[in-house]
Amino acid sequence: MKIGFIGLGNMGGPMAANLAKAGHDVVGFDMAEVNIDGVTMVSSGAEAAAGADAVITMLPKGNILRAVAADVIPAMSKGAVLIDCSTVDVDSARAVDADTQAAGVLFVDAPVSGGIGGASGGTLTFMAGGSAEAFGKADPLFDIMGQKAVHCGDAGAGQAAKICNNMILGVTMIATCEAFALADKLGLDRQKMFDVVSTSSGYSWTMNAYCPAPGVGPQSPADNDYQPGFAADLMLKDLRLSQQAAESADADTPMGALAQALYAQFVENEDGLGMDFSAMLPRFEKRGRE
Ligand code: NAD
Repeated sequence: MKIGFIGLGNMGGPMAANLAKAGHDVVGFDMAEVNIDGVTMVSSGAEAAAGADAVITMLPKGNILRAVAADVIPAMSKGAVLIDCSTVDVDSARAVDADTQAAGVLFVDAPVSGGIGGASGGTLTFMAGGSAEAFGKADPLFDIMGQKAVHCGDAGAGQAAKICNNMILGVTMIATCEAFALADKLGLDRQKMFDVVSTSSGYSWTMNAYCPAPGVGPQSPADNDYQPGFAADLMLKDLRLSQQAAESADADTPMGALAQALYAQFVENEDGLGMDFSAMLPRFEKRGRE
């Protein structure tokens, strides 16, 4: 296939390299000067999209996606597929879908989980929204860049799945961290707390697979001075997207709203910027009730 790839940053770069390594003809465009193994760089998004069977975008946010899509869609061949792998708001995904339909182009929103390690190892999970035809065209590429792709529904469903998952993740991480900090103050040993909770009804991915307490549970960013991993500012971005979606769908999400406020406080007013999102534990451990 001829593939146009736009946005070759931390995630997009290794994803594009994996497609090239698998034998596809990959033409890339990024605003920044980048060089990716096996990828031919060109000087605009439209140039990367011209004549491509598939165009993949991996961009920071919704307004950038909308601008890039406006440039790229008119340059795409009819029947080609635009696959947006960025994490953006559901409304932007649906707006881009409408523009592709008007132009006779297929669209899939396909945000990922798995982070930079998953992008370079080709082990991402894709959560996809779009028609069966669009998903069918994109699926062989998901196979190369990832280990699993779930077709979640119509356009926007991939972004919806991603932000609902990450809203649960943010809320659960905070609950796990505040419980460890309470356990400390009650004189309960952290290892004992882990041994009980990880096999009791308080268990979760944040406790069992990504324990925020250093030296306890499996290896995690807590064991590496809370270097990310999954950065607190990226968690804040996803929580904001979840609350933006909740607002536009009139959904009551009090825990998600509180998690957003706590991560905003941590990243913007405390020392959370550049730390892993599990560094909420040292934050709570230093605090009293006020
Ligand atoms: P990044 O900032 O490293 O990469 C974004 C790239 O897009 C940059 O190279 C930038 O120059 C380029 N870009 C910006 N505007 C552009 C434009 N108008 N035209 C062309 N290129 C443009 O970000 P990233 O970490 O690769 O993340 C990309 C997306 O993936 C984000 O939506 C993020 O939320 C999501 N995501 C990231 C991770 C992660 O662990 N980094 C995990 C899951 C999802």
